[in-house]
Amino acid sequence: MIDRYGRNIDYLRISVTDLCNLRCIYCMPEGGVAKMRHEDILTVEEIEEITRAAAALGIEKIRLTGGEPLVRKGIVEIVRRTAAVPGIREVALTTNGSLLAGYAQDLKAAGLSRVNISIDTMDAEKYREVTRGGELADVLSGIRAATDAGLRPIKLNAVLIGGINEDFIRPLVEMTRDADFRVRFIEIMPIGECADWNRERFVSISRVLEDVPGLAYAGTDGVSKLYRLEGAKGSVGLISPISSHFCPACNKVRVTSDGKLKPCLHSPEEIPLRGLHGAALEDAMRRGILDKPLKHKLDSERKSDSRRGMSAIGG
Ligand code: SAM
Ligand code: SF4
Repeated sequence: MIDRYGRNIDYLRISVTDLCNLRCIYCMPEGGVAKMRHEDILTVEEIEEITRAAAALGIEKIRLTGGEPLVRKGIVEIVRRTAAVPGIREVALTTNGSLLAGYAQDLKAAGLSRVNISIDTMDAEKYREVTRGGELADVLSGIRAATDAGLRPIKLNAVLIGGINEDFIRPLVEMTRDADFRVRFIEIMPIGECADWNRERFVSISRVLEDVPGLAYAGTDGVSKLYRLEGAKGSVGLISPISSHFCPACNKVRVTSDGKLKPCLHSPEEIPLRGLHGAALEDAMRRGILDKPLKHKLDSERKSDSRRGMSAIGG
């Protein structure tokens, strides 16, 4: 569907849970988030119904996210039902990868097209520090399982955190040499847990090119600028929501795990969808898409206007 500013909105991200098995320092409080009541979380049926309404409005691509989508009971069924909705051409998933080894085959069989796996460093000790206890080996098993299951191409997402993981840019880039991984570096955004962090933590994406001068420009892929090491099978994407925000090209809206449509990640507007069915549900979603703000006001000096952090919205 075309919004008020002429953008074609064809992509919906659905958060299937706000819970997570990790506690990344920039995303989750150390003690985790207060658990929502079970009855406040979208059911599998509601997720399917929202997907049907979205497809009727021209959404073609669904991304399931969280929190950590693989801690959601019934995630394979959610994939099966959303992938079967007529008009939906692709269902993808964003995961921290730590539980993926046990799910990759079933997800693929249920109709999942591909996965984005978040991995902010290739150093096991640093990984434990950033995720507050996660095991890098589990994520690497998850990446292998996803490759074996044919969930390709695999995108590996790393947020750049000044003073924390910049040393690990090069090892992540090296992942692209022998396999078709799409490693993507993303500027960290001042939202939720890290909204009030010291500005030095917010490193510009240009840091990647300074550290790895051998990267040659290779075009664009959606919101990322692509680069490649000479002879490498994979690519490196740079995504800069802060230093050059890409709102004019934004094609997505989001639904939170408690059923609110969020037309813009960094704006406070939320449209309740629960309890709506059929034409009423479609109307509410149509209004949200039509009124999607032209751009957010976030920059390196100003934090997000969102009322929720990333784990509650679904990054
Ligand atoms: N748990 C899953 C994961 O980690 O991939 C899915 C949800 S997580 C909120 C989705 C993505 O948002 C992750 O890649 C994470 O690094 C990113 N993210 C979280 N907080 C962020 C922030 N403040 N700025 C930029 N990206 C952020
Ligand atoms: Fe969990 Fe993903 Fe947030 Fe890390 S980034 S705490 S894995 S939701």
